[in-house]
Amino acid sequence: MSKIQKAYKFRLKTNRNIEEKLARFCGSARFVWNKSLAMNLERLESRQPILWYNELAFWLTLWKRSDQYGFLKECPSQVLQQKLRDLERAFRDCFDKNQPLKRIPVFKKKGSGDGIRFPQGFKIDNRRIFLPIIGWIGFYKSCHISGTVKNITVSTKGGKWYVSIQVEQMLETGKHSTESEIGIDAGIKCFAAFSDGTMVEGVHSFRKHEDLLAREQRKLARKRKGSENWKRQRRKIAELHHTIANVRSDFLHKLSTGISQNHATVYVERLQIKNMSSSARGTIEEPGRKVKAKSGLNKSILDQGWFEFRRQLAYKLSWQGGRMVEVEYRHTSQMCSCCGHTSKENRKTQAVFRCLACGHEENADVNAAKNILTVGQTGMACEANRMSGRQQEPAGNREEILSQAC
Ligand SMILES: [Zn+2]
Repeated sequence: MSKIQKAYKFRLKTNRNIEEKLARFCGSARFVWNKSLAMNLERLESRQPILWYNELAFWLTLWKRSDQYGFLKECPSQVLQQKLRDLERAFRDCFDKNQPLKRIPVFKKKGSGDGIRFPQGFKIDNRRIFLPIIGWIGFYKSCHISGTVKNITVSTKGGKWYVSIQVEQMLETGKHSTESEIGIDAGIKCFAAFSDGTMVEGVHSFRKHEDLLAREQRKLARKRKGSENWKRQRRKIAELHHTIANVRSDFLHKLSTGISQNHATVYVERLQIKNMSSSARGTIEEPGRKVKAKSGLNKSILDQGWFEFRRQLAYKLSWQGGRMVEVEYRHTSQMCSCCGHTSKENRKTQAVFRCLACGHEENADVNAAKNILTVGQTGMACEANRMSGRQQEPAGNREEILSQAC
């Protein structure tokens, strides 16, 4: 048994009145964050110790009593206190030597990363949620909520309001219900190809909406900046971006859930997405080749969220008692899945694989997926690594090799 954290996100059924109140809550929370942050930054500047939660909470009560900041009283206290806790966390993280990537917290702007958390004071009753001061709000319950509810966060994006319900679940980490193993390759013509021959078409959500987006953006450029029409158009674009993100997210979640339920072990190629998208252009000394074709490929990889897909797949598999194994082997796209003959010549076009040795012909992405499965299952990748000097230990049995290298 192990504990996992999970969040469910649902769209709230808001009306103008509720939206105005929520927006005011967000505004107050943002104000408290920014004001406390400003105080602390000043103190850092003058080499004074920064204020932690307790001192800041004291300041908060003073602000609430003042005429100037009296509006803070209209917002539930826990929401504002939570912002102070978040700020304390952010400062502790940025001074933590174990988290070198954390930076000094920044001021929050209206509309970006606006979210308010309710650590308590809320209630959930089937399809509605109770928030302090506001009361009951319905939400579009798209799936069952299981686990112990820890807290909820209300946020807005693209003019819509959402609630994210954070729960803690006890998970039985048993065996996966199947023993199925599968290899998956990022396709060039499709989103993904499986070693069993399945090809998954991508949504190409961005491409499909790209023209529309470009047209709307041109319209925006023609409008006077700051005018009512300009604002309306800007909202329209924000909504379009939002739609694209939703379509993509839905596609990835459905696909990763299905795979994690049907297969216990999933082999994927170790990918360096960053390298792939930066290397095409090359350097001044060594300009890249086929820059245009490569940037197209990179774009579609980034567009379709292959990276996010793998991330989801990994955690969903672990919930099911399965696992994802990364395979490192360079020739998966040039090797024949039938006889093992490896040659560049095998791949005349991007879509079709034709073996020069045995004449085997197959979709190139499926062939690569089969190779990934074989390489993963036999530990060939590890052999290859050992030969290239990465791993010097003598080979053991298959499990040993796999656990050493992968
Ligand atoms: Zn062959």
